[in-house]
Amino acid sequence: MLIDQHGRQLTYLRLAVTDRCNLRCRYCMPEEGIAFAPREALLNYDEILTLCGVLADMGITKVRLTGGEPLVRRDLPVLVRGLGELFPRLAMTTNGILLPRYLDELAAAGLTTYNISLDTLRPERFFRITRRDNFTETLAALDLVLDRGYRAKVNVVVMRGVNDDELLDFVELTRDRPLDVRFIEAMPFNDDDGNHDVFLSYDAMLRQLLETYSTLEQTTAQGGSAVTFTVPGYRGKVAIIPAYSRSLCGSCDRLRLTPRGTMLNCLYSTQGLELLPLLRAGIPRDELEELIRLYVHGKYATGQETERREQQGNVFASMTSIGG
Ligand code: SAM
Repeated sequence: MLIDQHGRQLTYLRLAVTDRCNLRCRYCMPEEGIAFAPREALLNYDEILTLCGVLADMGITKVRLTGGEPLVRRDLPVLVRGLGELFPRLAMTTNGILLPRYLDELAAAGLTTYNISLDTLRPERFFRITRRDNFTETLAALDLVLDRGYRAKVNVVVMRGVNDDELLDFVELTRDRPLDVRFIEAMPFNDDDGNHDVFLSYDAMLRQLLETYSTLEQTTAQGGSAVTFTVPGYRGKVAIIPAYSRSLCGSCDRLRLTPRGTMLNCLYSTQGLELLPLLRAGIPRDELEELIRLYVHGKYATGQETERREQQGNVFASMTSIGG
């Protein structure tokens, strides 16, 4: 089992399979992209499956594929088939653009939960936020996931003055559809990405929702990272994710693996365990397990503590290299 120094068992892996993306969301990446990893610097599928086999034996039961945009990695269904043999629960966070092309294959491999990132329901805003013209494709992907009866969640990064006037429109999506809409606090990645200016807190979002939906009911906290609500009579759910306030870290059960093979205990970690060179040097399995166990044991109590102890003024390039 993977247990940290605070007694938390880690059962959930967020697996970023690429740092590349077919969008350029302003809060995530500059127009020109970042210094993307060359192919040989990425874990290949055999390496990912080797590591995942070890992690499955150590108690990881759920894997979420993310990135970058996971669907831009070539032959992703091949990897997903391998993962499907190791883990009972597979999920993916995606912008949906390429999803219709792969959905059947992915679902057949056991991937039936899709978080689709969609920050606005207005096409022109979508272009302004993502710098790309793929609103129709993203919406179509969401419809397709729902039509096929798979579990769908919508991730909305809420930004003051950008899309915070759409919260209620998003809640209305849950009236007749069995989907979860998740409002995410925008996280700053560096001093000039503008996320500081647009930040809207968990509390401010909740206040805004309660002004219209005074009967909003809080259900149990979901998986530790979100607080979930329902509007009585609505089919779907609404959640708020305090990604920056980090008020839910106490129940964190997550481990991350970046496309370059760095294991991270926390989204705010900058000092991880570099697994790629170890795998390529042929590290024996028992030594690998021991290193992972030790690394996980050192997981800090909260994202704030991780930031304080590890970052020391360092900043992330982008969520796309960590795996959102
Ligand atoms: N490309 C996929 C997608 O669009 O869903 C997966 C990767 S993306 C980095 C994962 C999630 O992180 C998305 O929902 C995205 O909106 C969110 N994200 C990226 N940068 C963020 C930031 N600065 N603050 C909050 N959420 C962010």
